Amino acid sequence: MNKDITCTALVQEKLNLLQQNTHNTVNTLLDTLALDLAAKVDAKIANGETIGLLEGIPFGIKDVYMVQGTYTTASSDLLKNYKSAYTATAIQKLLDAGAIPLVKENCDSFGHGSSSENTIFGAVKNAINPDLVGGGSSGGSAVNVAKDYTIFSIGGDTGGSVRQPAGYNNVYGLKPTYGRISRYGLMAYASSTDCVGPIAKSIEDIRIVLNVMSGKDIKDQTSYVSAEITQEAISTTDNIKTVGYFKNFIETDAIDAKIKSDFLETIEKIKAKGIQVKALDFFESETLVSTYYTLAMAETASNLSRLDGTNYGNRIESDNLKETYAVTRSENFSEETKRRIVGGNQVLSQGFSDEIYLKGLALRDNIANNFENDFQEVDIIISPVTPSTPPKIGDSLKNPHAMYLSDAYTVGFSLGQLPTLTIPQGTTTGLQITAAKHNDELVLKFANFLKDTI
Ligand code: GLN
Repeated sequence: MNKDITCTALVQEKLNLLQQNTHNTVNTLLDTLALDLAAKVDAKIANGETIGLLEGIPFGIKDVYMVQGTYTTASSDLLKNYKSAYTATAIQKLLDAGAIPLVKENCDSFGHGSSSENTIFGAVKNAINPDLVGGGSSGGSAVNVAKDYTIFSIGGDTGGSVRQPAGYNNVYGLKPTYGRISRYGLMAYASSTDCVGPIAKSIEDIRIVLNVMSGKDIKDQTSYVSAEITQEAISTTDNIKTVGYFKNFIETDAIDAKIKSDFLETIEKIKAKGIQVKALDFFESETLVSTYYTLAMAETASNLSRLDGTNYGNRIESDNLKETYAVTRSENFSEETKRRIVGGNQVLSQGFSDEIYLKGLALRDNIANNFENDFQEVDIIISPVTPSTPPKIGDSLKNPHAMYLSDAYTVGFSLGQLPTLTIPQGTTTGLQITAAKHNDELVLKFANFLKDTI
């Protein structure tokens, strides 16, 4: 680090930008904490001590992560006064590396949404065109990175919530392989696909932050040990020979004409580099979206059942305990969250669960098997991030079904628990790069290659 600017000055500059911003990205500013930590970094520098790679680097946190002593609202009325009792593992690892948390970031409530309009803090506005949505659910995080209010932000991706807003705001966003980063302290939406995901402006930043957060955690039994990804390992592409894409994602009326033509052009540029490109068969978008929403709603109904005003949340007293639960939940959850709780409980209820939930699980297995077969044939799968460009603020709230369909290209990779990265190239809303499970390194490697290719 050169000493042109103190850490305190850098942090103060970013805090000012966040405070004044008109994109509605901030739920809580962590100014006292951030300035305290910055002063410690400056003292270390003044003492001539060595400084770690992430030391003094200001970052943002989607408001669904526990950070002890800070509000963790999930952008909801229910938790607007809730303070975390402990810190999420992924965030703790960043703090241990010296990174400085600036802000709890606006998002769709409990991760429910694709536009960051389902929030009590006001719709997040797109970094490029503020009349459009910021994307969701990690909209505040992507916009903060795009506007340089944070150096990187930690989003959460269940069905696309890091990748889609990254695409809408032209930055990088990674959903790692499920389990690579501990979910402990990430408020649960759909536990079987919830992933911690970094958003940043370069592949190198994604790599560094991913390495710091990865690893087995005894507090999350789905987490696993992974090897560090080195800069050298992702700088050559000699082992990438074949790339696939899903024919039906592209040959459909549901895709925006410009996104389609950009994507086809990208394929030609990849071919021109001597890489073989194969068109693959895949499940229909409708099947992917309905399988994902069936399982995600079932899991969220179950995960949110504990939020009844007893241990957590703004309790609203009523005539008796049962009424108190009912009023607390109906007054404090948003329309979208209630729609998902009702849908999820229906999916899980006796008489329906065999027909709907078990069918969803079976389809998920089929989707995962399909991916396994594909990765026998290709090294990488590429896809547009979204079928359409970002909607105007207000439109998604009027049409939830259209909003669910905007997740058509992201949810399949979530169901497969695969590593997928959005890069800010390839189409107007970016390009997704996916590899087989645990092959996050290959994803970053191909992203580096595409940086100079498309
Ligand atoms: N838009 C998707 C949903 O609403 C994905 C959200 C997410 O990944 N948290 O479920």
